[in-house]
Amino acid sequence: MKQIMTVTGWISPEQLGFCQCHEHLMLDKGVPYEIDPNMCMDDLSKSTDEASRLKQMGGSTVIDAQPAGCGRNAEGLVQISKASGLNIIASTGFHKLIFYRDAHWLHTLPADQIADIFISEIQTGMYSGAEKGLPKDRLPYRAGIIKAALDRENLTPQYQKLFYAACSAAAETDVPLMVHIEKDSNPLALLDFLLKQGVAPGRMIFCHMDRAAASLQIHKELLSQGIYLEYDTIGRYKYHSDWIEIQIIKEMLRSGYESQLLFSLDTTRARLKSYTPDAIGLDYLFTTFMPLMHKEGITDRQILKISHLNCIDVFTKEHGL
Ligand SMILES: [Zn+2]
Repeated sequence: MKQIMTVTGWISPEQLGFCQCHEHLMLDKGVPYEIDPNMCMDDLSKSTDEASRLKQMGGSTVIDAQPAGCGRNAEGLVQISKASGLNIIASTGFHKLIFYRDAHWLHTLPADQIADIFISEIQTGMYSGAEKGLPKDRLPYRAGIIKAALDRENLTPQYQKLFYAACSAAAETDVPLMVHIEKDSNPLALLDFLLKQGVAPGRMIFCHMDRAAASLQIHKELLSQGIYLEYDTIGRYKYHSDWIEIQIIKEMLRSGYESQLLFSLDTTRARLKSYTPDAIGLDYLFTTFMPLMHKEGITDRQILKISHLNCIDVFTKEHGL
């Protein structure tokens, strides 16, 4: 059976357990912080406390969705994992281009060299830093997933270059490709592009559709092509209530997609208790959201699929099929 790479080494599919598929545990100050001060979680003991609370509640694994060169702190993730006992899967890949300065290597290098960097972060070890200048300081800890981002300008030549690199790394490494979907972007056109590049639909996760696209028809069109949707507009009342979120999930369950849904919280500083004491916390799925799912009639089996089994499948299903 295929194994899954965490920051502290391989784990078996059974060890993945309860998985939050898109979080931010550690984030150094950088361009994201200059855009939004919430995008900074640089206190190791606070981030560790947060992870420990999740572990104590029953969490097993978190995917950290910050790729290289925009504040990812790979060493911090290793320390958090060792201290809390939580499995952490780190990301290589690219985020929205507004998070990188003009001279950044993601802007300047051609697709094949960027793909080589992504591949080497998965096969050899992640780079530390890499905010300025070419990545050079390699750590012995490997990334386990490719993160990419579709912003509202869609597939401009610059984004196409980055997606070519991500697709080529996905083909070479057979790890999942997880895509941030921005509101007002075109995820259907992106999926078309990714399928043409040969990425297996069963290795693709589109994130944030629950706040990116109000039309549930678009969710269903994406799901009908075999990809996974990761929902995380949970405990985010500026977007919508948890009750609305549950109605979105129930509609997808009614439509037969229980094997393609994942969930998480996409936390940053404002929603982590250790940084913001009255925040929802990284354990909110346990304390609040899953009890509400139960109350609203979502079955134990469906919750097990969303929280455990589907995450295992996206990493380990043979050829992503
Ligand atoms: Zn995120």
